[in-house]
Amino acid sequence: MDTPVQEQIYHLAESKPLAIVVYCSDSRFQRAFREFVGNELHLKEGEYIPMVLSGGVASLSEPSRLPEEFKYVKDRIRFFLERFDSVHRVILINHEDCRHYEALKSSLGSIFLQHVKHMTERQIRDLSSVAKTLLGLGAPGLHIELYYARLGKNGATTVRFEKI
Ligand SMILES: [Zn+2]
Repeated sequence: MDTPVQEQIYHLAESKPLAIVVYCSDSRFQRAFREFVGNELHLKEGEYIPMVLSGGVASLSEPSRLPEEFKYVKDRIRFFLERFDSVHRVILINHEDCRHYEALKSSLGSIFLQHVKHMTERQIRDLSSVAKTLLGLGAPGLHIELYYARLGKNGATTVRFEKI
């Protein structure tokens, strides 16, 4: 007979969500993202819906070449906006040294950096174009906030968030 495992109790958050925050699933960045959302966006856990997606907004950046990803993510965001009328902020965060973006660059080839000089420019451009897409969903009073997380200069062990 196995000894019965002591059952742990976990608590749910009480508040209604005020925001949706979209950021990359890169494990190196999770703590920084969480702390940034609390310290600088002033959202406590339970006050925002985290959408942790590989590549941040990358899935929403190629509607014609990646239509399935685009539709899936857009529909999820639309669903949250309809389900929670308390949500008036959507925060989109991309980050430097994103492996998802690097993989997209390899798979899409030269088209990927067609209108931009380098990856950072592409990512910042995507934040703006995705913001337009989400504003097009027509949710009343919606604010979109854009951030680009840059690595620190010394050995890339730190990150800072630049408002776009
Ligand atoms: Zn990433």
